[in-house]
Amino acid sequence: MSIPTSWLLCKRKKLWHMTVVNGIHNHELDTELEGHLVAGRLKPEETLLVNEMTKNLVPPRNIISTLKERDSENTMSSKQCYNARYRYFLCTSFPTVLVMDSTYKTNKYNMPLFEIVGFTSTERTYNVGFAWLTNEKEDNFIWALQQLRSLVRNEGSLPKVILTDRDTALMNAVGQVFPTSAAMVCRVHVEKNVGSKIKEIVKVRQGEEVKQEIVWENLEKAFMHLLYSDTIDVYGDRLMEFRELCKKWPRLLRYIEETVLDTDKEKVVCAWVDKHMHMGNYTTNRVESAHGVLKKSLTDSSGDLVKGWEAIHHMLGLQFTEVQTQFGQSMSVEEHRYRNVILYSLLPFKVSRAALDYIYQEAKRVDNVGMDSKKCGCLMRVNYGLPCACLIAKKLRHNQPIRVDEVYIHWKRMCFNVEEGASSSTVSKAPVIGNFTPTLSQIVELDHMPKCMHPFIEDIVDVEGDGYCGFRAIALATKNNEADFELVRLSMQREMTLHKSMYVSMFDGEDRWKYIYEALFRAPRQRTSLRKTVAPQDKWFTFPDMGHIVATIFERVVVQLSKHGVGACETFFLLRGYPPPNPSSKVICLGALANHFVLVKLKEGCPIPKTNAQWK
Ligand SMILES: [Zn+2]
Ligand SMILES: [Zn+2]
Repeated sequence: MSIPTSWLLCKRKKLWHMTVVNGIHNHELDTELEGHLVAGRLKPEETLLVNEMTKNLVPPRNIISTLKERDSENTMSSKQCYNARYRYFLCTSFPTVLVMDSTYKTNKYNMPLFEIVGFTSTERTYNVGFAWLTNEKEDNFIWALQQLRSLVRNEGSLPKVILTDRDTALMNAVGQVFPTSAAMVCRVHVEKNVGSKIKEIVKVRQGEEVKQEIVWENLEKAFMHLLYSDTIDVYGDRLMEFRELCKKWPRLLRYIEETVLDTDKEKVVCAWVDKHMHMGNYTTNRVESAHGVLKKSLTDSSGDLVKGWEAIHHMLGLQFTEVQTQFGQSMSVEEHRYRNVILYSLLPFKVSRAALDYIYQEAKRVDNVGMDSKKCGCLMRVNYGLPCACLIAKKLRHNQPIRVDEVYIHWKRMCFNVEEGASSSTVSKAPVIGNFTPTLSQIVELDHMPKCMHPFIEDIVDVEGDGYCGFRAIALATKNNEADFELVRLSMQREMTLHKSMYVSMFDGEDRWKYIYEALFRAPRQRTSLRKTVAPQDKWFTFPDMGHIVATIFERVVVQLSKHGVGACETFFLLRGYPPPNPSSKVICLGALANHFVLVKLKEGCPIPKTNAQWK
């Protein structure tokens, strides 16, 4: 089913007022509006372009200028673009469980902000999409979900579970747009709702044997008990008990049965919901905390949508960096408790640390459960897609490792689907971005770096081109003086000697270690040349190997930006200890030109490229 969508922009004085109109249910228009109506519609290729740029975190300002450049007749206004872009962010990366809910007081138009979140293999909540809706009617939700649905490339990437509040319009929309996903409703909301109904209906007169508060508490407990029924039989038994308990208040029982149990038991009672891969999510908690995070970055709750977008954009940048750091940890730091244990031997760096932790905790059940799948219940496998106790018991019995294919794909993905430089051919040609106005030589330098990163570059500082430029750029970043580059090389020598075995194994052999180590010593002076000497190529700074070393000694995140060659844009994390809490403020970024390095200053909160996978 597809709903044709167009956008109607009504101009009133200087204020743009926006209404979403779709072909089936037209919203009533405010007839008192003055001015003329302008209908705009994004062409299919423009939609594609906006999606591409959104994926690469290009600010809306730049998207509009790009679109305008492409088509000077374009009637698009910024509002249209701002709205269009909320259809997508990172959805297809981790689609297993989506949690959605609206929040209010984010803008002066009183438009609710519909927020959709998912979570990564590291269990970090991230934003899948946003939509500002004119109201919370079913057709608006259908529109927003349709946008999301249209971006899922294959059926296998459809969400397994969708969690919402008990909002009828939203629940209906979810059922229509994602009929194959299991719908769940927030358990806490159901409990709260029933709790307040109990207090409303159940009154116990003073002087009675049992106090009113005790009666309330018992009813609430019995209801919770009912929700936690783990089989349909148990549910049947507990329902009988609950009916008995409610005998004195038939109105309460009728309310609970008619509005919760009859309609939604499959969406909230364990006996039903535990058949789905909900990964431990029984509430809409994740999206509610996401609302909180967003509101913190929204300094003005009654601003316009542009302000709202800027806040969202800033927040997404921070979020992206934080998630990348966690991916980096999962891929570069091995925890001691898994080392030399056959059971785990195939998993480190292949599955996230969060997943390893779940398996580790589940393995503690083995003593109790053994290989008996009835006793096991296998919820870890069904709900999380991870080996359950009875499977682990079999592995231990035969001294076999857990295979990577026994872990659900969600836990094995350690990157977002951000195609590096994918939009480089479509983004605006003008390199003048934000408040950074590059000089002529900087424009040339910028051209060596992927266009999608241009908006995040604050400055580019050149260093002397004597063959030590890579070390000079590092010295400039860490010691504020490029002339101190010999100190950088000394620290690197020291690091490589002190932790030789670690680097030898990372470089896959002593030869490579030796080659890199020797690059850190000065070349013998060539007396024959009178001209300024340039270090020979085998003394130059090289990625990826030296990226790891620098990240480790300076406890900074090192980024290489370049358009040249494979793995041109990469991020390096420290090999020991933990990455800094706010990595984006601690980035050392080198721009790799054809034969020269420069120091690139990135804006705070900028996205960083994918993690180097040397340890994969
Ligand atoms: Zn809730
Ligand atoms: Zn099991």
